[in-house]
Amino acid sequence: MARFDGTVALISGGARGMGAAHVRGLVAEGAKVVFGDILDDEGRNLQDEVGESTRYVHLDVTSEADWQAAVATAEKDFGPINLLVNNAGIVSYGPVDVMEPEEFRRVIDINLTGTFLGMHFAVPSMRTAGGGAIINISSTAGLMGYATIAAYGASKWGVRGMTKAVALELGNDNIRVMSIHPGPIRTPMTDGMSDELTMAQPIKRFGTAEEVTKLMMFMAADATYSTGSEWVIDGGAVLGPVIDIPQE
Ligand code: NAP
Repeated sequence: MARFDGTVALISGGARGMGAAHVRGLVAEGAKVVFGDILDDEGRNLQDEVGESTRYVHLDVTSEADWQAAVATAEKDFGPINLLVNNAGIVSYGPVDVMEPEEFRRVIDINLTGTFLGMHFAVPSMRTAGGGAIINISSTAGLMGYATIAAYGASKWGVRGMTKAVALELGNDNIRVMSIHPGPIRTPMTDGMSDELTMAQPIKRFGTAEEVTKLMMFMAADATYSTGSEWVIDGGAVLGPVIDIPQE
């Protein structure tokens, strides 16, 4: 029996990057997966690649109707959901006095409100399933500050805080709720970033989407005594820079 036999997963932002790695990883280990994105061509191509155990749906995470339709597709084709991965997200750069308020609101709407909506619409289905796991993708930007991404940081700190509140609410429903905090991971989101960015870390490279998938799958299937917890996967980035302290 495969590790994810009997799992019905719903993943946002699944057409590319880490979300696509999560789709591939879960299907390879037996799960049925509904995944959504706003990149419909990439999403349909991925569904063609991974096959009958998946359904691609158009899912703009800011749309309540899209979330309702995604949950309905999962229930109709595969059964009630027992794994939700709130992965969709965007980053936007600009100092606080330069970023337009409208852009700040857009980042919060997708990254933070989108994560809330995912939980809001999936939880009734998860109760029907008898429980499961919710994994919210935050960031090291939800653990520390980075200049020029105040909106992104606010959204990712918000995801981290919301995760803990909802974990307290859903314990009695047998639903575990956790956050993942990736550091620099090589995906389309970080295409323009140089490897130099990782040189102050103990592990001097970008992580891969597949490394995050392995952690996500461990949390979903094996971390059965964990809820409300934050899981860091960052090559040691949050430790601060490696500094050689001069010896006397
Ligand atoms: P990615 O390659 O850009 O994938 C994110 C996906 O979400 C894209 O397909 C994106 O489409 C989609 N998306 C954007 N807005 C959406 C919306 N309103 N509704 C549904 N989908 C939407 O990024 P990634 O690196 O895999 O990131 C996945 C998650 O990890 C994000 O939450 C990100 O913040 C987080 N994260 C990433 C890193 C990193 O280093 N890569 C580090 C820490 C945390 P578009 O291309 O149209 O925007």
